[in-house]
Amino acid sequence: MAHADLLARHRAVMPRWLALFYDEPIEITSGHGRRVTDGAGRTYLDFFGGILTNAVGYDIPEISDAVRAQVDTGIFHTSTLYLIRQQVELAERIAELSGIPDAKVFFTCSGTEANEAALLLATQYRRSNQVLALRNSYHGRAFATMGVTGNRGWSASSLTPVNVSYVHGGYRYRSPFRDYSDADYIRACVADLRDVITTTTAGDVACLIAEPIQGVGGFAVPPDGLFGAMKEVLDSYGILLVADEVQTGWGRTGEHFWGMQAHDVVPDVMTFAKGLGNGLAIGGVVARADIMDCLTANSISTFGGNPVSTAGARATLEYILDHDLQANAAKLGAKLLAGLRAAQQRHDVVGDVRGKGLMIGVELVRPGGTDPDPRAASLLLEETRSRGLLVGKGGLHGNVIRLAPPMTLTEEEADEGLEVLTASIAAVQAEVSR
Ligand code: PMP
Repeated sequence: MAHADLLARHRAVMPRWLALFYDEPIEITSGHGRRVTDGAGRTYLDFFGGILTNAVGYDIPEISDAVRAQVDTGIFHTSTLYLIRQQVELAERIAELSGIPDAKVFFTCSGTEANEAALLLATQYRRSNQVLALRNSYHGRAFATMGVTGNRGWSASSLTPVNVSYVHGGYRYRSPFRDYSDADYIRACVADLRDVITTTTAGDVACLIAEPIQGVGGFAVPPDGLFGAMKEVLDSYGILLVADEVQTGWGRTGEHFWGMQAHDVVPDVMTFAKGLGNGLAIGGVVARADIMDCLTANSISTFGGNPVSTAGARATLEYILDHDLQANAAKLGAKLLAGLRAAQQRHDVVGDVRGKGLMIGVELVRPGGTDPDPRAASLLLEETRSRGLLVGKGGLHGNVIRLAPPMTLTEEEADEGLEVLTASIAAVQAEVSR
């Protein structure tokens, strides 16, 4: 089928708010390692799919075999009304890795559902629908998760069942505290949190939901220790901390297995999703047993934790651990950061380079200042694509390039990607300076 025909049919039958990257969108038809091939036979090095879905890359035999073995039983799924061995075994593994004492796990099919479940648990547990979220956050596209999404460009509706107040902390580069030291930044955010609780709520707040590093919001990294300091305030009110680890989990940030560990804090509730399935639909929520079991009504999650997804997820998790991909993320992430910071010195269209492990944001600004430049980001997206590299775009103003390769990235591929990025940044700088 002709590619142009598929795009026209997509436009005709799919909603227009379903985002597509690139002036001429790509149909990915196969993949191997960190490379994907499109319908026209062109191959790209993938520096974004690691966050979207493919945490460890494409065509990994251990994962494909585990999925195939389940498919070969003739059963893709029955229902969560029956016992599912892979599901229980995966839950045991995640509970143990979570660091949450007395943890229980509930599986969903997506990050949105996982966060909906977390918000349901927190609001029921605390008998309050007052919730705190960070400005510039993204937590999903259902009603409650849209409510706690502070990034307005990604929150399609203002109608939501939770009563939300937003606090500072996530997005340092565009906060009033940008130029503060780490310690002063943390102090300012903690003071803001206290102020929001005392002035905009009656204190009976259910939870604060937070991404350790904001993903859709442009890979915005707060200083280490911020959420630990915030948790002290939350604890004084009995407010739960919900960590959204959908993008930051499973070792991607390099130095830690969970993003929240950089803050010396164990959350009360944690959510995870996509990366764990390496492309299969899976998500979930981990919570202390007293929180998880505060719901009493019967329920099912018809497809959540189905045997195909959980078999693939178990294989993915073991692959990450067996190959110490967290250490690889730390090593190659540091290399990419250093290379991009060097490019920033030469090109003032790059306002900020930040990240941890294989989660790196490049914020593009109008040369000579800090005003966001979304056009430069779009140009960089196209430039890199024309040189055979896929990257992501995001940020509050759509002006951040996001890099998140599969965690199996090799040194040679890191060099190759860096070379393309450096040449593309130079081309964009020339274009915007014209
Ligand atoms: N939380 C975060 C931090 C996310 O980045 C996303 C998706 N980008 C979600 C939740 C929602 O996940 P899903 O798309 O699987 O519903």
